[in-house]
Amino acid sequence: EYPIHAEITGPIVMIGFGSIGRGALPLIERHFNFDKSRMVIIDPNDAHANIAANHGVRFIHAAVTKDNYEELLEPLLTEGEGQGFCVNLSVDTSSLDLMKLCRSLGVLYVDTVIEPWLGFYFDKDADNASRTNYALRETVRKEKRKNPGGTTAVSCCGANPGMVSWFVKQALVNLARDTSMNFVEPMADDREGWAQLMKDAGVKGIHIAERDTQRSKFLRPQGTFWNTWSVEGFVAEGMQPAELGWGTHEKWMPKNAKKHKKGCKASIYIEQPGANTRVRSWCPTPGPQYGFLVTHNESVSIADYFTVRNDSDKVTYRPTCHYAYHPADVAVLSLDEMFGNGGTPQEESLVLEEADILTGIDELGVLLYGHDKNAYWFGSRLSIEETRDLVPYQNATALQVTSAVLAGMVWALENPEAGIVEADEMDYRRCLEIQMPYLGPVEGHYTDWTPLTDRQTFFEERKDEKDPWQFKNILVQ
Ligand code: NAD
Repeated sequence: EYPIHAEITGPIVMIGFGSIGRGALPLIERHFNFDKSRMVIIDPNDAHANIAANHGVRFIHAAVTKDNYEELLEPLLTEGEGQGFCVNLSVDTSSLDLMKLCRSLGVLYVDTVIEPWLGFYFDKDADNASRTNYALRETVRKEKRKNPGGTTAVSCCGANPGMVSWFVKQALVNLARDTSMNFVEPMADDREGWAQLMKDAGVKGIHIAERDTQRSKFLRPQGTFWNTWSVEGFVAEGMQPAELGWGTHEKWMPKNAKKHKKGCKASIYIEQPGANTRVRSWCPTPGPQYGFLVTHNESVSIADYFTVRNDSDKVTYRPTCHYAYHPADVAVLSLDEMFGNGGTPQEESLVLEEADILTGIDELGVLLYGHDKNAYWFGSRLSIEETRDLVPYQNATALQVTSAVLAGMVWALENPEAGIVEADEMDYRRCLEIQMPYLGPVEGHYTDWTPLTDRQTFFEERKDEKDPWQFKNILVQ
């Protein structure tokens, strides 16, 4: 009864069988024709090998490392007839090296983050600029420039980064329509057209505005880090410098903010951990809220994508773009405890599985602000209850990711020679069409809230009263 979107003619190699890998497996089974005896899952942790066995999928108990990846993966990816597909849903493996290997073998590739080899995030000798997502992304953009076209490798195609880039385009089109702009929707490959439309719509910036209200059935014991997705992944990105796409309307920068000297220069970073940096934002359920300015690929990619340049290549427009993430309450407490203890992660951790969750939703959308209608949130408000009805082995957070992986895989199969692409460069309509059945209510909401609304006045604050949407007002100082 589920639509088959495409056929995978060669082997499928899934790297990593954590919360996202386990959730992606039933979606792959549901929506593709493929030979299951040619699918393999690789993970150094075999805690869930029984799930693979129950699905009739081979499990290899091993870590993919810098030393073994070619030897381990090449035979698996090229075994037998047809075109293979590598689905990378692991931590601590280099996305760049894996996509280069796949492309050299003519194998399709998708991942949800630009992950480096083990050791990068906590390298004490690396400076902060080199620990940014900007630096990671530049390595992949460089490879794309060096080797344009060729076998498709979809980079960063989860919920965010990933799906939110498709939401940004849908939200922009809705906004243009609602403000009665005279416009023609740009084609999927017309980057300049999209950037010009964003500029013409008067958008100053974009928050990836998320509120996760999923609540555990159990109380979090002290000394543990609980989250609704990878604790390892969240701690790693949370300890990277706060980072944001830097808009042309900004008049003020934090003293400890830094620009980049090389590359696309679309973003800045702040010399402090993102998960300990708060911003003011807005989501439909809570209304105004604090979120963490955790670095993400999309903060850079969206700002870069929607940049307008004049004939002499000078930047004339760019939106500010960053994450404003209010994770599940248990994760907020976990972060507070971790930073309170000097920043060393707790030894015990838990990713809340579907069965551990009492109730709640993951409300993940994009907030386009600074235009004629002030601000517009567009996104998915997926509940744990609806998630349970739709798919096994995952909570609402994971389903927003796994359904984006599904969309990315379909798009890659339909566009197998597109080279290295990010979600911004894909056809947002086709991708959302695939993903929509798994996103719960997808809604747009206008709000008259700004970061200056109802600010208390007991203490003098650094703020810009003239322009509510300055980053100065958004950053909690
Ligand atoms: P997880 O921690 O639950 O699982 C990661 C898995 O990778 C684990 O099972 C682990 O054993 C395995 N692994 C570790 N080292 C490995 C190696 N060397 N080779 C192969 N496997 C290895 O994490 P998750 O929640 O499933 O997330 C997986 C990835 O997806 C992470 O990189 C995370 O950042 C990313 N992610 C992206 C989004 C998004 O929206 N873009 C959302 C959630 C997670």
